[in-house]
Amino acid sequence: MADIQKTDIIIIGAGPCGLFAVFELGLLDLRCHLVDILDKPGGQCAELYPEKPIYDIPALPVCTGQELTDRLMEQIAPFEPVFHYGQMAEALEKREDGSWLLTTNEGTHITAPVVVIAAGGGSFVPKRPPLTDLDAFEASGAVQYAVRQRDKLAGKRLVIAGGGDSALDWTVNLVDIAESVTLVHRRDDFRAAPDTVAKMRALVDAGRVTLHIGQLKGLEGNDGALQNVLVQQAGGDAPDALAADVLLPFYGLTMKLGPIADFGLNLEENLIPVDTERFETSEPSIFAIGDINHYPGKLKLILSGFHEAALMSHAAHGIVHPDKKIRFQYTTSSSSLQQKLGVA
Ligand SMILES: Cc1cc2nc3c(=O)[nH]c(=O)nc-3n(C[C@H](O)[C@H](O)[C@H](O)COP(=O)(O)OP(=O)(O)OC[C@H]3O[C@@H](n4cnc5c(N)ncnc54)[C@H](O)[C@@H]3O)c2cc1C
Repeated sequence: MADIQKTDIIIIGAGPCGLFAVFELGLLDLRCHLVDILDKPGGQCAELYPEKPIYDIPALPVCTGQELTDRLMEQIAPFEPVFHYGQMAEALEKREDGSWLLTTNEGTHITAPVVVIAAGGGSFVPKRPPLTDLDAFEASGAVQYAVRQRDKLAGKRLVIAGGGDSALDWTVNLVDIAESVTLVHRRDDFRAAPDTVAKMRALVDAGRVTLHIGQLKGLEGNDGALQNVLVQQAGGDAPDALAADVLLPFYGLTMKLGPIADFGLNLEENLIPVDTERFETSEPSIFAIGDINHYPGKLKLILSGFHEAALMSHAAHGIVHPDKKIRFQYTTSSSSLQQKLGVA
């Protein structure tokens, strides 16, 4: 097996609750690795509502989803968490010594005595266009939902579908290396940042990008090799065939529980039942905090996840260091906690 990275705690999910768990665990000298399928921290706050205001974070009368994420990242920085972004936590197995081995879809292996599932509503996965026979084109890379290797799109005829930031960012970003770029959107109105919309329109006016108003209707090609993307214009008779090597649909993300469903934990309607003293799952030393867990009276609020992170951390400490007692301390008055935070 490739290199195995060792830590005290593996956290699945870098949403607000996973991030705050790093802080509470850090105060107890527990080191964390975090895995998230997104390419950035913040979970729902950063992905679904980065610019919307949140009004119910204690002592922060208002902050946006992105500001909350940025503040949490600043707060946990002293504990130097290791992030594994863009990776799905795929398999979890118990080792002979009782520790856990987590494997991601990218082949990263991490081992720790404790796992914390902070997976929120599940992993973010791209929304697929409602087309038949997508599988073969996805498998060959002719349909891609994220640009992982920009260079591989050089010299290709690209059709980019969608009207949000991702679709327009990539339209602007790929035009210099692609043979051709056609942007397909169902109406001539875009949700992306105004500056990017303006750049895209300038490229269309200059004849460097083709804008096609219509809906994806089908794909033509053989054995995963794409030839045409069929696009239906409103009121048009037959769909237009746009010659293409790669289709990049950017229709947003949806949340699915994903591989965690196969970790062997008790589940209740895709949530993980926990106790309210330790926030431990049906499997000792696997904890669940934040939106993913369930217990009587649960409220899916960020502040609930923060509280859960604090209690979970004390329980996790007892597993990682069964022989060490925790001395309860306040950050206000404990010089040892302040040293850990780098403020003393
Ligand atoms: C529009 C909107 C407004 C909201 N407003 C408020 C508000 O005002 N106040 C409030 O308290 N709450 C609000 N919420 C709810 C709040 O965002 C959630 O309670 C919070 O995000 C839960 O945090 P979490 O860390 O548990 O999970 P999430 O934020 O969902 O993060 C979970 C992370 O885990 C990752 N993940 C899951 N499974 C895997 C896997 N197998 N491998 C890798 N990564 C994985 C996901 O990609 C995700 O990044 C709002 C929610 C929405 C959608």
